[in-house]
Amino acid sequence: MRSNPAEYELIAPGKLQAVVSLLASEPGQWLPIAGGTDLMVQYAAGKLQSRKLVSIWNLPELRGIEVTPEEIKIGAACTYRELREHEVIVREFSLLASAARCTGGVANQNRGTLGGNIVNASPAADSLPALLAYEAELILVSVLGERRIPYINFHSGYKKMKLASDELIRAICLRRKFSGYFQYARKVGARNAQAISKVCIAAMGRLRDGAVEDLRIALGSVAPVPLRLTEVERAAAGKPVDAELVRWARETAAAAIQPIDDIRSTARYRAAVAGNLVAEFLQQLRDSGKTV
Ligand SMILES: Cc1cc2nc3c(=O)[nH]c(=O)nc-3n(C[C@H](O)[C@H](O)[C@H](O)COP(=O)(O)OP(=O)(O)OC[C@H]3O[C@@H](n4cnc5c(N)ncnc54)[C@H](O)[C@@H]3O)c2cc1C
Repeated sequence: MRSNPAEYELIAPGKLQAVVSLLASEPGQWLPIAGGTDLMVQYAAGKLQSRKLVSIWNLPELRGIEVTPEEIKIGAACTYRELREHEVIVREFSLLASAARCTGGVANQNRGTLGGNIVNASPAADSLPALLAYEAELILVSVLGERRIPYINFHSGYKKMKLASDELIRAICLRRKFSGYFQYARKVGARNAQAISKVCIAAMGRLRDGAVEDLRIALGSVAPVPLRLTEVERAAAGKPVDAELVRWARETAAAAIQPIDDIRSTARYRAAVAGNLVAEFLQQLRDSGKTV
């Protein structure tokens, strides 16, 4: 059943300080809404529990992409369109640019935000594996000020996260140290656009004298939270990317994940595809000539 708009209240204070003060003064009463692409689906289906919504869409402190020599700081309310069109993101953080390009369709990319994708916390969210691979940090803000936490510590279980009810994500920070890496992103879904991932991968690596110097492999839609394949990453360090390593990595990746059977796919298919994507990444890394 559709929601009744008369039962909902939406305010837009327009200033960050006013929003965080509101969140602190009435704990758990107000739900932030950014692009609304997840919340409005719940609303349309009559499933949006929170009746009081506070807009964070136009808060200047959550918009814009700040670039310094050391890092880029992406405002949490930046849209996929802004991400996929940003010169530094396209050049140095292609895993994130690629996730932005394959999220939903054009309308969704004009409205959906990176902060919303993180807090919605779908296991199939496309941008999250990229954040894991880049070892992103999140800046959280409340009336008490800001705190910075590694993204890898943020999601602790299915739809569970270390975000207090009076906090917002203000920005997502990525260190600028990956320009020499081979970067590989793929989304496997039912079609190329408007498809939820059956499996998605964001991986990157660098070789030294033909052997693995650094590897980062992150998968989505294969567990309650996005996963980094640290066992594969550690075991591959210092080894040449030969047929034996590729075979072992394929099998280890398929065994390391916890996929489920659902409406979009089966656990068996997801495990096979995850292994194949890891193998394809390693083969392309070997052939890429990205070495120091
Ligand atoms: C047609 C369609 C296709 C889609 N396709 C994809 C897809 O291919 N891949 C994919 O990953 N997702 C997809 N989505 C999901 C959605 O677009 C993304 O998750 C999007 O990034 C959500 O951002 P938003 O700003 O619209 O979030 P909103 O709907 O505004 O909010 C989502 C949640 O995040 C919270 N929130 C938002 N911003 C902040 C913040 N800064 N701080 C604290 N809390 C915050 C809200 O309170 C809410 O709980 C799709 C959705 C639709 C409707």
